[in-house]
Amino acid sequence: MLTSEEPTLQKVKTTSSPSKTLKVAIDGPAGAGKSTVAKLIADQLGFLYIDTGAMYRAVTWLVVQNEISTNDEAAIIELVRTAKILLKPGDKTSHQLARVFVNGKEITKQIRTQEITKLVSPLSAIPAVRAYLVEQQRNMARQGAVVLDGRDIGTVVLPDAEIKIFLTASAEVRAQRRFRELKTLGDESVDFDTLLKDIVERDERDTNRAIAPLRMADDAVLILTDNMKIDEVVSHIIALCT
Ligand code: C5P
Repeated sequence: MLTSEEPTLQKVKTTSSPSKTLKVAIDGPAGAGKSTVAKLIADQLGFLYIDTGAMYRAVTWLVVQNEISTNDEAAIIELVRTAKILLKPGDKTSHQLARVFVNGKEITKQIRTQEITKLVSPLSAIPAVRAYLVEQQRNMARQGAVVLDGRDIGTVVLPDAEIKIFLTASAEVRAQRRFRELKTLGDESVDFDTLLKDIVERDERDTNRAIAPLRMADDAVLILTDNMKIDEVVSHIIALCT
C-alpha cells in the first residue's frame, strides 16, 4: 500500500544529461511524423540525426536519373555500390530536415517528389541495396549520440539501441497531415484520396517485404500520435532519453 510520503517522492522527476553515446531508434509507417520529431529531438539534445528514408530516396533518385529499370537489380546494385550518399544537418532555426547529396549534387528537394515516393518502396526491398545502406547507417551511428528514423532501425540497424520508439497514427490522419503539408508548400494538384491510397500501399509493401519489414521491435515504446501535437511527442521521447 502507498504511504502518504510516497506520492510526493514519485513526483520528483530527476532529469540528467543523456549519455554521449545514446542511440535513439524511431520507426513507424509513412507520414507518422518520424522525421520531424527525430530532427527536433536531435536538435534539442545535440545529437546527430540520420534520416534513413532519405538514403533510400537518394538511391531511388539515382536509379531514375540513370534511367535504370526498377527491375534491373544488377544495374541498381552496381549504381548503389559506387554512389556517395551524404547527409548534412538541415538549418536549425527553420527546422529544415536533413540535406541530402549524391555524388556531390544536392538533391534535398528532388527526393520528395511523388514519383520518387512511389518508387522508393519496391527499390528498398532489394536485399543488396539494404545491406549497403544499413552498413553505412551503422557506421554513421558509431559517431556518438544519434537519432535514426526509418522502418527497421530498432529491429535490424540498431537492435541494441537504448531508446526505441514506434511512432504511428491512423492512415487517415497521416494522409491529412501530408495533404495539409503539400497544400502549404503550394501544391494545388494534391488529392486526398490519392494520398491516402499511396500511403496505405506503401505501408503494405514495407510491412510485407521479405527483408527487414516494417515492424515494431519487442522492446519499443508505442506512441499513437492521432491526438498528439508534435511538441508533446518530442517531450515524451526526450523524457525517456534523460
Ligand atoms: O521515411 P520515408 O517515408 O522517407 O521512407 C521512404 C521509404 O524508404 C519507405 O517507404 C521505405 O520503403 C524505405 N525505408 C526503408 N527502411 C528504412 C527507411 C526507409 O525501407 N529504414
